[in-house]
Amino acid sequence: MRTAEQSIAGKQPLLGSSRAELAQMASTLKLPAFQGKDAYRWLYSLREANPLNWTSFPKSAREAIAASMAPGVPEVVGEQISGDGTRKFLLSLGDGERVEAVYIPEGKRRTICISSQVGCAVGCAFCLTARLGFRRNLTAGEILGQLYAAESKTGLRDVPYNVVFMGMGEPLLNRTEVEKALGLMEDPDGMGISWRRITVSTSGVADALLDFAKSPVCPRLAISLHAADDLLRERLVPLNRAYPLGRIRKALEALSRRDMEKISLEYVLLAGVNDSDEDARRLGRFAKGLKVKVNLIPFNPAKGLEFQPSSAERTAVFQEIIAGGGVVARVRKSRGLDILAACGQLARKGWEG
Ligand code: SAH
Ligand code: SF4
Repeated sequence: MRTAEQSIAGKQPLLGSSRAELAQMASTLKLPAFQGKDAYRWLYSLREANPLNWTSFPKSAREAIAASMAPGVPEVVGEQISGDGTRKFLLSLGDGERVEAVYIPEGKRRTICISSQVGCAVGCAFCLTARLGFRRNLTAGEILGQLYAAESKTGLRDVPYNVVFMGMGEPLLNRTEVEKALGLMEDPDGMGISWRRITVSTSGVADALLDFAKSPVCPRLAISLHAADDLLRERLVPLNRAYPLGRIRKALEALSRRDMEKISLEYVLLAGVNDSDEDARRLGRFAKGLKVKVNLIPFNPAKGLEFQPSSAERTAVFQEIIAGGGVVARVRKSRGLDILAACGQLARKGWEG
């Protein structure tokens, strides 16, 4: 329903518009200024992106808005449900590109994992998304649209949930749109999702992390480290050439001085590659003195990826070594493996057609 409107050429999407852009829209359409503000409330607080349903507007205003603006909510064109309750959605964007978002229920905790780009340019050796290459950045509206689509599919509208930027793409290489989306997501008069419920995961864009350290408020952060040695990390996460460990550590030191939640260091355990006792000690040394906790991630295998997951015994020893050094370390459970919805598996595979 919304998609038909969305695809009509020349219409601007409503979702993703800032207060200022909605004020501009009101002025262009010769509507009173308060209706620009009301549009913001309908769009974000009430999650109603179709202006024809904005009942506080006169019918003529609704029609004028609908004639020039499209809702901009991506259409869910595929859905898969894992044996563990995880649900993966395939979303179609205005230009026909498609991205994936994942809903992960875990007892009382609910999480929506969203994408920030179509594909990814970073090219991590163990990640299926990397195989797509980089196709394009998502707009703020397309980022938020994933939450709207998942909310309506899962009935989450009135239940608090967490948002993680752990889907396709490197969020901090799409800063303008990601930061715009974060602002609209967090704004108590907008979507109203508090900072402590939002986690941005990055492969280590140190400049952007330093900026977060300076800003008065910021989401939770997860750094995908995977190695505490530059040579090895360059092989696994090519972005390490631009932002080596020294620069990431400096940014983490600045972030650690802030009064905020612990930062997660993500570490995918790859058998025989980064899971030796020495690797664990190096990681422990890197983490020491920082306000961090370590998340050990079991490698999620997929066709075309050359690595093997570390054994349960190796994982336990690795974890003990880090914990022995006084750093909190836990092993993350993989969710949605059977539908290719787990970390690093989002590559638009497993859909018909
Ligand atoms: N680009 C960002 C966010 C998306 S990736 C980042 O790299 O942080 C989300 C997480 O999945 C990252 O920690 C990433 O390293 C991890 N990941 C990628 N491929 C994986 C795989 N095959 N198995 C397990 N985790 C993987
Ligand atoms: Fe990109 Fe993250 Fe995958 Fe690396 S792990 S290729 S940064 S999505």
